[in-house]
Amino acid sequence: MSASYDCVVIGGGIVGAAAARALAARGSRILLVDRAMPGSEASGAAAGMLAPQIEVLADDPILPLAITARSRYAELVPELHRRTGVNVGYFGGGSVQVALGPEEVAPLQAQVGAQGAMGLKAEWLDRAALLRRHPGIGPAALGALFAPDDARVNNVTLTAALLADAVRYGAEVADHEEATEIVITAARVTAVATVRRRYGTSAAVVTAGAWSPSLRGLPRALPIEPVRGQMAIVTWPAGEPVGVLFGRHVYIVPRADDALLGSTMEHAGFAKDTTPDGLGQIFTGTAALLPAIASQRIHRSWAGLRPVTPDGRPLIGPDPEVAGLWYATGHGRKGILLGPLTGEIIRDLVLDGATGWDISSCAVTRFDQRP
Ligand SMILES: Cc1cc2nc3c(=O)[nH]c(=O)nc-3n(C[C@H](O)[C@H](O)[C@H](O)COP(=O)(O)OP(=O)(O)OC[C@H]3O[C@@H](n4cnc5c(N)ncnc54)[C@H](O)[C@@H]3O)c2cc1C
Repeated sequence: MSASYDCVVIGGGIVGAAAARALAARGSRILLVDRAMPGSEASGAAAGMLAPQIEVLADDPILPLAITARSRYAELVPELHRRTGVNVGYFGGGSVQVALGPEEVAPLQAQVGAQGAMGLKAEWLDRAALLRRHPGIGPAALGALFAPDDARVNNVTLTAALLADAVRYGAEVADHEEATEIVITAARVTAVATVRRRYGTSAAVVTAGAWSPSLRGLPRALPIEPVRGQMAIVTWPAGEPVGVLFGRHVYIVPRADDALLGSTMEHAGFAKDTTPDGLGQIFTGTAALLPAIASQRIHRSWAGLRPVTPDGRPLIGPDPEVAGLWYATGHGRKGILLGPLTGEIIRDLVLDGATGWDISSCAVTRFDQRP
């Protein structure tokens, strides 16, 4: 056995980095292990939208947590800047979901109404109002839901800053070191084994994204699947006001002088390839939203694997049968939004045994087979 830690965090994407940071900030001795470079999987591949009012329907029990997660950024961004000197590229300005056919109008208007009734800011823009915001919008656009409090962030910079701050707080990071097993003795976590060593610990946090189910020693099967998302980056169309635009299964997200275009939702195992079909869907869909996209220069394309559960909500909380085993995984399409708040929740659970946030809809037990 080599060194021992208060807690071992398994996986250094945004969720692991946020958990390590929050725990280390309270003085815990933390080791974060990543089998590759932290931030190199889904957290590096994402689009960085903080868009709960588009990504989450009003009747989804995760919505209150997602709204809180968005508002926590107001504190997090300046704090990371002050502590690490890193500007994480956070921008407000809202997001817009465009109705591109008559059948999309009523459901979006219903979301505007339901969100308004919950006290959230949401507006219906008719075509004229939409054209004032986005003069280049496509001819099929009939109107849009506008969520002015939605935001966006550079997820690559953010994940790196969270990890750097975790290290400043004293967390240790072992990169290119794959965790192989959570060692459980008499229903308690006693160690985490990696390809190199065995680390003694009484707490382990599973933050290995789409790879979480393959850790040995887990007392239950985790219903998480990799869902591939392809992305491309093109030049932002000159003269078009910047803003986040969602259309039918696609979105356009400004980043510096460029536009991130995404994304597919594909069950393709762990293959991170981009394909003509996938990128074709993205280019066609985003050009329907903003026709000027079609003639822009393509800079790069890539794909990442979202860790997705059957109901799209993450697994956050304790294992009910093993003391010291915590889950913070399965964040699907919303891990950049929910990652930093998940870190705070894990800190509360590991150090205080309870959290003030309502995570009942994220319990791992919701997937237990009933006899
Ligand atoms: C194309 C795309 C666009 C997206 N856009 C958005 C968006 O706009 N907004 C949003 O909120 N979310 C978005 N998401 C979702 C978001 O990226 C994910 O939910 C989030 O990054 C998950 O973070 P994570 O830390 O759980 O997983 P990951 O970032 O995948 O990190 C898991 C880490 O665990 C490591 N690991 C795996 N196995 C082991 C092991 N055995 N031992 C040690 N380490 C291990 C991996 O190397 C990896 O670094 C998008 C995702 C994709 C793919």
